[in-house]
Amino acid sequence: MDTETYQLLRGSVRRFVEERLMPREDQVEADDAVPDDIVAEMRELGLFGLTIPEQYGGLGLNVKEEAGVVFELGRTSLAFRSVIGTTVGIGSQGIVIDGTEKQKREWLPRLASGEAIASFALTEPDAGSDAASISTTATLAGDHYRLNGTKRYITNAPRAGMFTVMARSEVNTRGAAGISAFIVAADTPGIVLGKPDKKMGQRGAVISDVIFDDCRVPADAIIGGVPGRGFKTAMKVLDRGRIHISALACGMADRLLEESVQYAIERRQFGRAIGEFQLIQGMLADSRTELYAAQTMVADVARRYDLGEKVSEEVACTKYFSTEALGRIADRAVQIHGGAGYMNATKVERFYRDVRVLRIYEGTSQIQQIIISRGLLRKAGLGV
Ligand SMILES: Cc1cc2nc3c(=O)[nH]c(=O)nc-3n(C[C@H](O)[C@H](O)[C@H](O)COP(=O)(O)OP(=O)(O)OC[C@H]3O[C@@H](n4cnc5c(N)ncnc54)[C@H](O)[C@@H]3O)c2cc1C
Repeated sequence: MDTETYQLLRGSVRRFVEERLMPREDQVEADDAVPDDIVAEMRELGLFGLTIPEQYGGLGLNVKEEAGVVFELGRTSLAFRSVIGTTVGIGSQGIVIDGTEKQKREWLPRLASGEAIASFALTEPDAGSDAASISTTATLAGDHYRLNGTKRYITNAPRAGMFTVMARSEVNTRGAAGISAFIVAADTPGIVLGKPDKKMGQRGAVISDVIFDDCRVPADAIIGGVPGRGFKTAMKVLDRGRIHISALACGMADRLLEESVQYAIERRQFGRAIGEFQLIQGMLADSRTELYAAQTMVADVARRYDLGEKVSEEVACTKYFSTEALGRIADRAVQIHGGAGYMNATKVERFYRDVRVLRIYEGTSQIQQIIISRGLLRKAGLGV
C-alpha cells in the first residue's frame, strides 16, 4: 500500500479506536459482548480484510503495515481486536499462504468483507504446546473426508463462518507429518459448539470447544490440495500471527503507560502528585523502556519478514519479550494506581487481566524460549 493511503488508514483506525471503541469499553465489560453496530463499523472500515491480498478484496497490508494498525487496535479493550483477530491472522492466512487458487477465490473475498469470520482450530484437550500430537482424525472415504475429534479454546468459534482445522489425515501416523489443514464451512453438518468458555479477562471475546462428529468435508478442502502439509502451514501462519500479537502487546502497553502517567499526575499524596516521587518515576521509566524495546523488535522483525528472510527465531524472541514485558507493564500500572488499580472500575484492572493470555496463546512463553534456544544450540552443533 502506498505511504499516503496507509497513513490515512492508520489515522482512521486510530480515530475509530479513540472515538468509537474507547467510549464503549465499559459496556463490553458489563455485557461480555462486542456490540453488533461496532462489528458492522469494523466491516465498513475494511478491518477484516487487512491482510488479505487486494485481488481478493482485502487491503493487502504487509506485516509492517499490519503491525502498525494492530498497535492502534491494541490501545483499547482487547476484545475488540479479537473480533477481527482470527480472520486477519491465523484463520485466513493458511489459505493466503498455501491455498489453491480455487480456495482463495472461494473464501478470501468473503473473509475480507467480514461476511464470514475465520477461526483457527488446532488446540485439543490433550494437545496444546505439543500441537503435533493432535488426535482429531480425517478419514478418507471416496471423494470426501470424515472429521472426528474435539478442538479446545477456539477463538471466535461461536461467530465463525469457517474453520481452518488441523486433523490427522494419514492413518497410523504420529507427529507433524500426518497432519492436514482443512477448510470447513461452519454450517457443515457434524459440527457442534461447546458453551462459550468463561475466562479471566477479555470479556466480549468468544471462545469455545468445537466438536467434529463425523463431519463430512470434500477431499479438495485440504489447504493447498496436498495431504500431510497442514502442520507446516500452521507453523507459517503462527510466525506471522506472533508478530501480530507482539504489535498488539505494544499497543496495550502504550495505553497502560498513558493511563499510568495520567494517574501519576492526578493522584496526590503527601501534598504532591505521586508522579513527583522518584519511585513512581522509576516504574514509569522501566515501562517506557520496555515498550520502546518491544516496539523496536516488532519494527525490525516485521521489516525482515516482509523482505522474505527466515525469522522464526527472531519472531519467537519478539513474541516472548513483548508479551512478558506487557505483563510487567500491566503490573506496574496497577501498582501506580494503588488500591484503585485493584478495583474493577479502573481500566488498568481489566487490562491487567486481559493481557495475561498473550503469554499463553499462539505459543506460550516457554515454547518461544524453546524455539530460541533450540536455534542457538543447533547452530552450535547440538542435536536438540
Ligand atoms: C483465550 C484463549 C484463546 C485461544 N484461542 C485459540 C484458537 O483460536 N485456536 C487454537 O487452536 N488454540 C487456541 N488457544 C489455545 C492456546 O494456543 C493453548 O492454550 C496454548 O498453546 C497452550 O496449550 P495448553 O493450554 O494445552 O497448555 P500446555 O501445553 O498443557 O502447557 C502447560 C504449561 O506447560 C508448559 N510446557 C508445555 N510444554 C513444555 C515444554 N516442552 N517445555 C517447557 N514447558 C512446557 C507451557 O508453557 C505451560 O506453561 C487459545 C487459548 C486461550 C487461553
